[in-house]
Parts: sequence; C-alpha cells; structure tokens
Amino acid sequence: MTSKDIDKLKKGASAFDISLDSRQIKAFETYAEMLETKNQVMNLTRVKPADYVDLHFLDSLSSASVQAFKPGIKVLDVGTGAGLPGIPLAIAFPGIEVTLLDATAKKLRFLDEVIEAVLLKNVRTVHGRAEELQSLPAHSRKYDIITARALANIQTLAGWTLPFMNRNGIVIAYKSVEIDEEIKASKTELHGLRGKIVGETRLRIPGTDIERRLITIARIK
Ligand code: SAH
Repeated sequence: MTSKDIDKLKKGASAFDISLDSRQIKAFETYAEMLETKNQVMNLTRVKPADYVDLHFLDSLSSASVQAFKPGIKVLDVGTGAGLPGIPLAIAFPGIEVTLLDATAKKLRFLDEVIEAVLLKNVRTVHGRAEELQSLPAHSRKYDIITARALANIQTLAGWTLPFMNRNGIVIAYKSVEIDEEIKASKTELHGLRGKIVGETRLRIPGTDIERRLITIARIK
C-alpha cells in the first residue's frame, strides 16, 4: 500500500469512528500484499490492488456505521471468499471473535496463512456450505452478527444466514443500491424464517462516489 493508500484508509476508517493504530495499519498492508500475490495464482478478487482500500477495506468496515462491534461479540462471515468483510472487521475490532466460513477449502487455506502472518488471534476459519453447517449444534443460533457480501440475493442469503443468528442477532447484507425488487422477492422467505428487514442504510464509501446499501435482518420476536 502506498502512503496515499494508508492515509485514505485511516481517514476513511475514522469516518466510521474507527481509529487504526500503526499495528493495525501494518496488518492491512500485510493482508493487501498477500492478497495481491495469491491472486496471481488463484482467483480471489477482480479488484485491482490500487482499489483494495476503497472497494475492499473501507467497504468492509462500512457496517460499523449500522452496528456496534463490541468486544466479545461473535461475528460469522458467510461466503467470506478472500476474507471480506471478515478480515478487515477483525483487524479493526480486535475484541470481537470472527469466524470466516466458505465452501471452498482453497480460499480458507489462504486465509489461514493470512491469520498466521498477521497474528490475528480473533479469527478462525470454518469450511463447508452454509446450508449444511447452520443446523450443527456448534453453529446453530450461535452468532451475534452475520455478515455477507457478494454472496447471493436476499432471499437465498436469508436462508443461508438466519439460522446462525442468536436470539438478538442480526444479519448484515452488503448490497448495491438497486435492490428494491430483490427485497420484495424475499418477503415470503424472510417471513418463513421468522426474519424481518429492520434497516436499509444507504451510504457512500468514504472518499469515493461509490454507494452501498446495508440491509439488516433480525428475528421477529
Ligand atoms: N464475501 C467475499 C466473497 C464473495 S464470492 C467478497 O465480498 O469478496 C462468494 C463466496 O461465497 C465464494 O468464495 C464461495 O465459495 C462462497 N459460497 C457460495 N455459496 C456458499 C455456501 N452455500 N456456503 C458457503 N460458502 C458459499
């Protein structure tokens, strides 16, 4: 990362009330380097390294504007892929416990390398399909916050994520702006899962013109 990237990352994070110290910045740098290198031999991201800060790191951290990542809370990142948004959240909030879930073992092996290189003590990886792991006692209703970015439409995503959510848990779906139809189409499925959309926050990734919509889903009490 260039010094301009680092500046952008610090400033952008502070827009979400996150202050990053030098160790955390170093962690993002190591992660960025490893992602760039590994992406040459396997398909992890289509985003160019120059855009990692905007399109991956700050975008991942944007959920801090809709939900507090308090120490001790358990976060599950479903379909984490290259570790997004899970790794940036784990770096920014060392007190949370992050589980990175993906169906592709190769991607998790890369993430295990990142966890080791960055010395991330608050992250673990779990391999499997969400729809299979969600009913296991170790995972069913065990998480406070479930994140999902670029995973599936809301209807499918709800089926894959809601069963992981504990009583007061929340799902945060990272979506683009044009999703009114998708929201409409998901109503029946959500109702069947006793879930409900409780928030639709529009925001701009700091320092860019890129808009994002964060959809939050909770359980009907
Ligand atoms: N969240 C990342 C990756 C998105 S690509 C990002 O925003 O960049 C979607 C990822 O979800 C892929 O890595 C794929 O392996 C994983 N995936 C797709 N269906 C899944 C399922 N049913 N259970 C677990 N992981 C799944």
